[in-house]
Amino acid sequence: MTQFRLYGCPACGQLQFPPRRRCGRCSGTALGWMPASPRGVIEDATIVRRAAGLAPGEVRHLATVAHESGARLIVRTPEALPAGTAVRLEMHESDALWADATEG
Ligand SMILES: [Zn+2]
Repeated sequence: MTQFRLYGCPACGQLQFPPRRRCGRCSGTALGWMPASPRGVIEDATIVRRAAGLAPGEVRHLATVAHESGARLIVRTPEALPAGTAVRLEMHESDALWADATEG
């Protein structure tokens, strides 16, 4: 498994999501992808029933996750996860963000 990353400022450690050209804390411009905690909590979820790439009857579970940094991320989940569920985030090879429920 690869290290989870978010865009941020290595000079001061501030994560910038969505990515920006200048740091909102120190105005630095040398921003890039930085290791970040993979932990978050489901805020809201929905089921997509019609979308490009979905076969008839197939569904896609999406959720808004509150990341520990304060960022809000739209992620895919393997199943419907209720609000308040603690999750671990992972970037899949397809560049889609996925979240799985964590134990405890
Ligand atoms: Zn900064």
